[in-house]
Amino acid sequence: MNQTVLITGASRGIGRAAAAAFARNGYNVAVNYCKSKEKATDLANELNGYGVMAAAYQADVSDKTAVGEMFGKAEQELGRISVLVNNAGIAEQILFSDITEEKWDRMFAVNVKGAYNCTQAALSSMIHEKYGRIINVSSMWGISGASCEVHYSASKAALIGFTKALAKEVGLSGITVNCIAPGVIGTDMNSAISGEILEELKENTPINRIGTPEDVAAAILFLASDKASFITGQTLSVDGGFIL
Ligand code: NAP
Repeated sequence: MNQTVLITGASRGIGRAAAAAFARNGYNVAVNYCKSKEKATDLANELNGYGVMAAAYQADVSDKTAVGEMFGKAEQELGRISVLVNNAGIAEQILFSDITEEKWDRMFAVNVKGAYNCTQAALSSMIHEKYGRIINVSSMWGISGASCEVHYSASKAALIGFTKALAKEVGLSGITVNCIAPGVIGTDMNSAISGEILEELKENTPINRIGTPEDVAAAILFLASDKASFITGQTLSVDGGFIL
């Protein structure tokens, strides 16, 4: 029987590429989205073409009630969720002194509370089955910190702590918890960055290119696989060597 993965923020970018990678490898896919309904629905239809079940589910991951409803519906339609990818995230470039309380709270509500909400919704069934894979999408800025992205960097560092602590708590239940720390990846999230800055970022990357969503998706898929069954609590950088 196919395993089922739920990927948050799968309507675009890294989440979308991960959804395609899982479907190609025989997983049923629950495509979570917040605002991009059409993109998520089109993707789910496309994934059905791989001979797996896929459907789109709306939920703002910061909303615990909405997340609970999404998991209930997805499990009913696609089967028990054995893999959770906490990928949904927001970013913002702003001076620290200009970060309002509202901006700070929203960053943590989506990037950190979203992972808490989804993981709590997924965990009881994983514990019951004594099997599960949780993959959190952090960032290289969560490791090294980025100027003008203090709230983003702090939220991504929080995910790394979340990963390590939960890995210790649920290992005995056959559940692994890992993190991916992408570098600069060509998605909408970086669309506001000028060509000049992107070129500079590329030059600071030993592999000398901007990453693709597929680069990150491949690492997520690996951490979900049986090949990664003895790996937990880790942060895997997918950044072309940017942070060494
Ligand atoms: P993206 O292209 O901007 O896509 C963001 C995705 O997150 C969209 O599918 C969006 O859904 C979803 N999302 C945003 N807020 C949400 C919410 N409240 N509830 C549910 N879904 C929500 O971003 P990306 O580059 O693919 O980034 C994916 C993850 O990788 C993020 O966690 C990001 O921090 C991390 N990351 C990215 C980079 C990079 O260079 N791109 C580097 C390091 C880490 P809707 O469109 O439906 O609203």
